[in-house]
Amino acid sequence: MDGDVKKRYRILTMRLILAAGILAALLIGMQIMTQLQMNQMTGMEKVINVAGRQRMLSQKITKELLYLKYYDQAEDYEIEVMNDLVFQFESAHYSLLLGNNLRDIPDMNNEEILQKYQEIKPYFLEIIENAEAAVNEITLGHGKDHWEPMMDQILQSEKQYLLIMDEIVLLYETESSDLLQVSKVSHMILNLLILLLSGLVFWKLLIPVSKELKNGFEQQFENAQNIRKMFYHLKAGVFLIRPDGRIIFQNKEAQNLTGFEEEEVQDINILEHVKWMDLNIKRLLDDVKSGKSAEDIETNVEDKNGINRTVMLTITSTTHQKEDALMLSLFDITVQKRAEEELTGKANKDELTGLYNRHFLDFIIQEEIERAERYEIPLSAILLDLDHFKRINDRWGHPVGDSVLISTSELIQKFTRISDYVFRIGGEEFLILMPHTNISGAVTAAEKIRKEIEESIHVTAGKFTASFGVAERCPGETFRTLYKRIDDALYEAKNSGRNCIVKSENPCNGYATIGLKWKKSWECGENKIDEQHRELFRLSGNFANNNAFHKDREKAVSYLEQIIQHVIEHFEYEESALSKAGYQDLNRHKKIHGNLIKKANEMKELYSYGSIDSIKVFTFLFDEVIIGHLLSEDIKFHDVFLNL
Ligand code: GH3
Ligand code: MG
Ligand code: MG
Repeated sequence: MDGDVKKRYRILTMRLILAAGILAALLIGMQIMTQLQMNQMTGMEKVINVAGRQRMLSQKITKELLYLKYYDQAEDYEIEVMNDLVFQFESAHYSLLLGNNLRDIPDMNNEEILQKYQEIKPYFLEIIENAEAAVNEITLGHGKDHWEPMMDQILQSEKQYLLIMDEIVLLYETESSDLLQVSKVSHMILNLLILLLSGLVFWKLLIPVSKELKNGFEQQFENAQNIRKMFYHLKAGVFLIRPDGRIIFQNKEAQNLTGFEEEEVQDINILEHVKWMDLNIKRLLDDVKSGKSAEDIETNVEDKNGINRTVMLTITSTTHQKEDALMLSLFDITVQKRAEEELTGKANKDELTGLYNRHFLDFIIQEEIERAERYEIPLSAILLDLDHFKRINDRWGHPVGDSVLISTSELIQKFTRISDYVFRIGGEEFLILMPHTNISGAVTAAEKIRKEIEESIHVTAGKFTASFGVAERCPGETFRTLYKRIDDALYEAKNSGRNCIVKSENPCNGYATIGLKWKKSWECGENKIDEQHRELFRLSGNFANNNAFHKDREKAVSYLEQIIQHVIEHFEYEESALSKAGYQDLNRHKKIHGNLIKKANEMKELYSYGSIDSIKVFTFLFDEVIIGHLLSEDIKFHDVFLNL
């Protein structure tokens, strides 16, 4: 607890203790007072009783004497009764007058009553003295003549005595009712006081305590809500998990990182369902449970959609509803990591062999092609694929396969020039890009590498070979078609028994004078589509071969617009025909059409501003529309019409 909370808690406790103390004191006070009043009332009652009995005793004395007088003789026990009566009468009188603790008779006499006792005193003494004297005579055995005058004396005094005693009893009764009245009033006052004080306690102590408690609860609720909100929207992914890995709670960023929805999260165990790419998460959790720390661990996780991210992981132990729990925080550093790799060049390299990767090929290829185009320098490419590589893996295992890939890459590098680029573009597929190299130079290099591979012996896998496809780029040719040519050549090499080189037929002449000839095998069987394809061939050839267009750009642009218009109409027709024929890949095909038209318009714009020459425009028409699309893409739907 911090200082402020402690202080508030102390004040709260003090108030409660004070409230309880005051209420208890009131109740005890009330109890004591009631007790006292009750004692007083019982005392009074006793006094009234004793006073009443005094009257009866005096009468009894006279009655007894009258009885003795009548028989004029007395038995011993009768004398004893007389003695006892006199004694009781006398002692009760003094008890009433002075109070007697032993007999529980309080002194309840006020001025007026004491006055009455003064008045009654001679009669009382007269009765006592005469009674004692009479009893004495009787005891001595004297006849009634001896004590009759005494008895008369008693009878005379008794009258007065009874009168005054009546008054005394009345006075006692008045006092008793006064006492009762006082008791009632004091009770009422006390009750009122209790009510007042209780109200005060409520108002000044309990209500503030209740307000304080309410504020406390509200504040705590608000804090908890705020913390929850903060936690949920934190820019780091946070999981609260049980020690066995089951997720209790995940925040929004954690959901982004793993892809698990809020509803399914209760059934997710981060040990089983989260793909930790390079981390023994179980061991790490055990470490944290045994008190070790796990902070800022860089690792990779794959979400349920297969997306890989680099994260900084921190695990701390905590509690949830009084049970042990663990808190995992993941900070996504994928972007920073990529940027860092980009800076250090790692992003461009294949991890296993250290050769350039496909990403880097995409990055440099356009520039290399433009350089070759601009300075009219040759550019060749070799595509190399290890033969029956799967068998090496199957026989010796993946690590040995990896090792073969590494030695192959070293060997290729050894037999290529510094200016050549060597890429690993697939599992066991390598591309060598050779600027300043024509086809014969490329074939020589390929042959050297083929031979070296053939002759090398891997420590475990032993001998292995590779097949090659080689080509030189034609002026104006894009990388796409160049790659298609080396890939086709490699395919041919594989089909020709492997461990050999196939050179791609040089189509460069075709680029110089375009005499595109339509081949029957390019027909799909749908007459109008075939007709439109043929027309496109004719229009494109015309564009390349008509010298007038090379001189008059305006004319060329309008001719180009005509071609684009033709292409648009053709695409529209082709799409509706394919849709009718139920072609499954129609959406993808439509997308390609859209992109081609967009690019064609861009080319036309660039051409009309003089940013590119007519060769570039034709290269586009030939490479991307005719070869890339009509002859590669459209071929895929031929079956649709042939089967109709
Ligand atoms: P072909 O002569 O027709 O090329 O046969 P192949 O067995 O070499 O070709 P295929 O494409 O059937 O098999 C290629 C194998 O390369 C399959 C794949 O498991 C393996 N591979 C791909 N990448 C790697 C890698 O990084 N390391 C290892 N060890 N093997 C890989
Ligand atoms: Mg292979
Ligand atoms: Mg392969």
